[in-house]
Amino acid sequence: MTLRGALLEAGTPLEAQLLGIGHAHMDVAYLWTIVQIRLKNQRIYSNVLRLMEVDDGFCFSHSKPVLYEMTKQDFPGIYEGIKTRVAEGRWEVMGGMWVEPDLNIPGPEALVRQLTLGRAFFREEFGDVETPILWLPDTFGFPGQIPQLMKLAGL
Ligand SMILES: [Zn+2]
Repeated sequence: MTLRGALLEAGTPLEAQLLGIGHAHMDVAYLWTIVQIRLKNQRIYSNVLRLMEVDDGFCFSHSKPVLYEMTKQDFPGIYEGIKTRVAEGRWEVMGGMWVEPDLNIPGPEALVRQLTLGRAFFREEFGDVETPILWLPDTFGFPGQIPQLMKLAGL
């Protein structure tokens, strides 16, 4: 079935405005080396900055403070470009945790550290850029303490 067909079958549209924003999902720990993730992520960030140069309406949202820190260490010019776009409001830092971790194996202490480190990095690097979103698109289950941890972390 086509998207158009599915939308027609879904009934009367809601009174809502939908917005789209660019995003790239990068697994920090997967079937590649840390060197490869550093290079892959740099390519994404440099492509995004280029797209922002050619399209004034292009906005981007990215999570995982660890990837921002790797970029800061390896490619300071790209990192400064990101900071400029964040200050302009065209690049949204979001997520809250240091990486987007698995939530089933780590205990609550590890999740608290994810939140504490992630939130502190964004605050220190980008100033008054508070993300209200806990971005966890890649986990295979959610433990019961997540709502409490989110509330305590201000998410
Ligand atoms: Zn993934």
